[in-house]
Amino acid sequence: MSEAASNPSERPLDFVRQIVADDVAAGKNGGRVQTRFPPEPNGYLHIGHAKSICLNFGLAKEFGGKCNLRFDDTNPTTEETEYVESIQNDVRWLGFQWDGLFYASDYFEQLYLWAEKLIELGLAYVDSQSSEAISQQRGTPSIPGTNSPFRDRSVAENLDLFRRMKAGEFPDGTHVLRAKIDMASPNFLLRDPLLYRIKHAHHHRTGNKWCIYPMYDYAHGQSDSIEQVTHSICTLEFDAHRPLYDWCIEKLGIFPSRQYEFARLNLTYTVMSKRKLLELVQGKFVSGWDDPRMPTLCGLRRRGYTPEALRAFCAEIGVTKFNGLTDMVVLENSLRHDLNKRAERRMAVLRPIKVVIENYDPDLTEQLTAVNNPEDEGAGTREVPFSREIYIERDDFMENPPKGFFRLSPGREVRLRWAYFITCTGVVKDEAGNITEIRATYDPATRGGDAPDGRKVKATIHWVSANHSIPAEVRLYDHLCKIEDLSQVPENEDWKSYLNPASIDVVTAAQLEPSLSAFADGRPVQFERLGYFISDSRDSQPGSLIFNRSVTLKDAWAKAQKK
Ligand code: ATP
Ligand code: MG
Repeated sequence: MSEAASNPSERPLDFVRQIVADDVAAGKNGGRVQTRFPPEPNGYLHIGHAKSICLNFGLAKEFGGKCNLRFDDTNPTTEETEYVESIQNDVRWLGFQWDGLFYASDYFEQLYLWAEKLIELGLAYVDSQSSEAISQQRGTPSIPGTNSPFRDRSVAENLDLFRRMKAGEFPDGTHVLRAKIDMASPNFLLRDPLLYRIKHAHHHRTGNKWCIYPMYDYAHGQSDSIEQVTHSICTLEFDAHRPLYDWCIEKLGIFPSRQYEFARLNLTYTVMSKRKLLELVQGKFVSGWDDPRMPTLCGLRRRGYTPEALRAFCAEIGVTKFNGLTDMVVLENSLRHDLNKRAERRMAVLRPIKVVIENYDPDLTEQLTAVNNPEDEGAGTREVPFSREIYIERDDFMENPPKGFFRLSPGREVRLRWAYFITCTGVVKDEAGNITEIRATYDPATRGGDAPDGRKVKATIHWVSANHSIPAEVRLYDHLCKIEDLSQVPENEDWKSYLNPASIDVVTAAQLEPSLSAFADGRPVQFERLGYFISDSRDSQPGSLIFNRSVTLKDAWAKAQKK
């Protein structure tokens, strides 16, 4: 990472910020900047939404403007209050506060009146064909569409039918309101797009008041206009929708909001669509929206991601006009970078094996001093109990080590972090030949971790005192998906067959340094050599602690330590 890249404020403005800066400089809209973040409350927010949130709220902040949170709740069948609440919670958690809080459903009356206006202007008509007939008449990119037989209904007839649609006289699917634009337009979205459909459904806010609902393309731009949004920022797929967005605003003669499109975030080894995430939740492939493997904001939070790390990630990836696939490592690095500075270090042994230090006084417990965070002097030190019986990782011992293995093995001396040098003198095995215990001696002169005679050891391993450590469950995570780019899965295949069956590894009998009980409060912590962890906000209980691994330590670091 170059210096410039690591400090986004020194980078040139991205194209959206450049547009906004130019508009402000030109005095457009009186120099006013108004943005909005417009989620549909049909699921929980994911890391892709964080990119949009950081951009919309960021622009408002940087240009002295305002940003609204607007729920795009025009589809009654998929939307729920649970989602509305989680979205507000997640936006705040990410560190942003909206100026106005609005719902597209607040505008239903106004949107309806504007639809009548389009009818009166001869720019909209009620089509009474089936949806199949309508889609058959749409044509292809090379063949123009066919006009509906209802296209030339009179204004009076259209108004009458539309009012009766609203009054609930017709069942679902019998009529729609369409804009009258151009069935031969090269842009499909201008071939008389649907503006309203009949849906006898309960809406999470308006109840049963309405049985006709506006389509996204009709509601969105008009909602922007009502809120006097100056820069309506959305993702690239909406590029083709812009002419319709502009058409509605122009024909209605309302505040001219403008739409700009940027590339959506896609990350390797995960999925980024609410529909797919919902499939995972409903199919119980994960434990819920906040499963720590999910790319949702609540999942990332439970995993141990911090708002700071997510905002830094969004700044790092920037805003462009080209769709791409961002490496998950970039996200992970943003968390490592953040936690390295503020997470205290502790020792935890995930898969313990006992080491008995034969020449250590069985009645003695020493309190050894350990540094809490070498990156932050202010974090101070703590005392770690040391006694005759300790646990180390099974992996840190090999009876017959291959070349290149430098950790503990018979006859080999290693350093116990913050403690002493120990030398393995032998092992104890059960009847089946499994090693149940390691025997060792320690050198009292090496207390603190250095030998007065200057002799070196090739490895430092972590440990906990067997009589003082506390048991815990530790959950280790891997990628949600087995393949990098899920968009490559053909339509006729079930994308869920590419889920990683080893995405979670539950370690049930870990042993923690006693001071880790204080981290049940949700502070991030580094387990030395193992990664960054956080206590699980849902399942961890006093007396039965559960920690999630947020992210491993840097690969390079891990490799260097293991040698
Ligand atoms: P999904 O496909 O996951 O359901 P969506 O676009 O339908 O996403 P909305 O709730 O409509 O979800 O999105 C709210 C805002 O967040 C929109 O402006 C949308 O463009 C933006 N957004 C959604 N996904 C991403 C993403 N992956 N990267 C950047 N912005 C996104
Ligand atoms: Mg959507």
